[in-house]
Amino acid sequence: METADDLVTRLVAAERELEELKAEVARNDAKMHRTQQRELRLLHADDLQTLIHELTDGLSSSHNLDHVSVVLCDPDHDVRHLLLAAGTPAEGFDGLLMVESLTGLAPQYVALRQPWLGAFAACDHQLIFPQSTDLASVAIIPLTHRRELIGSINLGSRDAKRYTRAHATDFLAHLGVIASYCVDNTVNRARLLRSGFTDVLTGWHNRRYLQVRLHEELARARRDRHHLVCLMLDVDHFKKVNDSFGHAAGDAVLQELANRIDAQVRASDVAARYGGEEFIVLLPDTDISSGVRLAERIREAVAAVPYELPGGEQQAITASIGIAGVTPDADADDLKTIGESLIARADVALYRAKSDGRDRLAMDEG
Ligand code: GH3
Ligand code: MG
Ligand code: MG
Repeated sequence: METADDLVTRLVAAERELEELKAEVARNDAKMHRTQQRELRLLHADDLQTLIHELTDGLSSSHNLDHVSVVLCDPDHDVRHLLLAAGTPAEGFDGLLMVESLTGLAPQYVALRQPWLGAFAACDHQLIFPQSTDLASVAIIPLTHRRELIGSINLGSRDAKRYTRAHATDFLAHLGVIASYCVDNTVNRARLLRSGFTDVLTGWHNRRYLQVRLHEELARARRDRHHLVCLMLDVDHFKKVNDSFGHAAGDAVLQELANRIDAQVRASDVAARYGGEEFIVLLPDTDISSGVRLAERIREAVAAVPYELPGGEQQAITASIGIAGVTPDADADDLKTIGESLIARADVALYRAKSDGRDRLAMDEG
């Protein structure tokens, strides 16, 4: 028979167990909260530099770790050049390791699909934790791109019990997926900004791109005996927007305007920001009357509803469009001059649309 004392002892033991469980739930809650906060910070990192800081210093402080490193495989030196172009060479980041190949870096890379947790072994892990020899346990979290291993986040602790094979890896696996996505996203963004063909404000192609494509489209039109139409659009009285509401408001109008034009053009059309508030759309294999119809749709979309400015004001915007077209002769050899003349004729037409009262189209009469 159990005595009253036994019963009390059992009760006390059960209560202690319950307290321990509660404490573990609380610890897990805190861990989840911390991880979620960390992941949000990763997702909010707009550029590669910020992301790398969040992955190294950020993780190290939020997870109270002795050493964190990030390995990125960069066989073409692409990411390294992007960092350099943005002003911080890869060597400027503590804990970032750019390598040409993952082979031989750590034995875990051979089959790293899930986070690997275990004891630190200098012979295995020295290369991925170059500055630390006094670690006791490590977690190696894979970074992937389209299911290929492209590197890892490496968490190191002096506490031998911090990362053992018995630990659940869900949190860390989730972190790895988010981090992989963020790496891909910020690398792509850096590429886009760097490429000399992109306009930073609108994300559209720029004048340089237009010039290259104009040449290509003219060559194709000459080969296939097609007609190529050029629309040149200029925002009406844009200076007033800047003067009344400031340049940030002007920028917001240009971004929204680019979206509205974009929604009207076909994938095969070539749209570019040609200058400040001037946009050009090339319409391959298009006759002039179809070009006029599209131009009218663009004009309507631009003017359809007022633009909401960053300060909350509403501003009506209109644009004028000049239209010109060309079918290059089969034996035409100076495509550069033909292209310049096409744009000049669209510009003359645009000027006429302006002087006729704006918010309208005008066709080249030549
Ligand atoms: P019009 O109807 O004759 O075209 O009048 P407008 O005021 O639009 O013409 P103008 O060419 O005199 O003014 C264009 C203005 O666009 C001047 C320039 O400061 C502004 N601008 C050019 N690029 C940008 C830009 O990226 N952002 C902002 N906010 N303004 C720009
Ligand atoms: Mg202008
Ligand atoms: Mg203008």
